[in-house]
Amino acid sequence: MTKLYIVVPCYNEQEVLEETAKRLREKYESLMANGRITKDSKIVFVNDGSKDNTWNLIGKLCAENEMFGGICLSRNRGHQNALLAGLMTVRTYADCVISMDADLQDDINAVDGMLEKFEQGNDIVYGVRSRRATDTFFKRFTAEGFYKLVNAMGAEVVFNHADYRLMSARAIEGLAQFDEVNLFLRGIIPMIGYKSDIVYYERAERFAGESKYPLKKMLAFAWEGITSFSVTPLKFTFLFSILSFVASFGMIVFSIVSAILGYGAPVWATVGLQLWLAVGIVLLAIGILGEYLGKVYREVKHRPSFLISQTVGLKDDDAQ
Ligand code: UDP
Ligand code: MG
Repeated sequence: MTKLYIVVPCYNEQEVLEETAKRLREKYESLMANGRITKDSKIVFVNDGSKDNTWNLIGKLCAENEMFGGICLSRNRGHQNALLAGLMTVRTYADCVISMDADLQDDINAVDGMLEKFEQGNDIVYGVRSRRATDTFFKRFTAEGFYKLVNAMGAEVVFNHADYRLMSARAIEGLAQFDEVNLFLRGIIPMIGYKSDIVYYERAERFAGESKYPLKKMLAFAWEGITSFSVTPLKFTFLFSILSFVASFGMIVFSIVSAILGYGAPVWATVGLQLWLAVGIVLLAIGILGEYLGKVYREVKHRPSFLISQTVGLKDDDAQ
């Protein structure tokens, strides 16, 4: 039997919280009745500095039923940080932890599939949306564009996977070793490694309240994803310097040919070639700086160089 914790970040979710808690409780009761999860498994709500009644509601739920737990952050720190706070707090309490949004957009029934994959030996199980029929065209377009853009820029993210996933205790332990401040969990978690799998589910509409991710926050999130995982934007400077050199070279050739043919070198070409040459040199210098900056950036991230998934024939193996 698995000891399962579910972590739910909540920001101003008073409209949905009671219904979410009810459905999660029912799910837990059926899983417990079927002997899938232990009786001390819990559902933990993380209050991310809500300004409404969310924390009081969480307190009430915990008083009524031992199945619930609550964590209150000192202020609003955003979804990713709230999730991390939850995972880090419960990581030693459970065999595995599932993270899920408070608005029931993630299909609760996918929990069974996740548990099954966990029992089969997977450390990370990603919940992936099978389709986006319930999203508006705009949301679908921007969200899918987001995955493509982030991937094109060199961060590895699982397509159409948000933050609905199961992680084993040791995967969370691995995550704890990535102590970066610019947090983009969807990019970091695939870097942890270990055996992983996917469970498909259909994403529903938010059943009450409003999205806390308007376009502005989504763009900021995409930018965070790109700049936390890739130094590709820094390399653009090199590309521009090459373009400048090509432009300058073209004008040199043009001036020489024109002079040989007896027309004389036109002023725009002789001035232009110097201009583009100078711009090219400056951009090249910035590009070189960018390369070093990229190295510094990777260095300060202080990511773990490796995580070990298994050892054999070593002295301590018996102790595990
Ligand atoms: N959330 C949070 N802190 C924030 C914003 C959102 O903890 O600053 C939580 C929110 O309560 C929800 C989840 O993150 O449980 C996802 O947010 P939302 O449903 O608004 O995003 P969407 O599904 O529209 O992308
Ligand atoms: Mg939502």
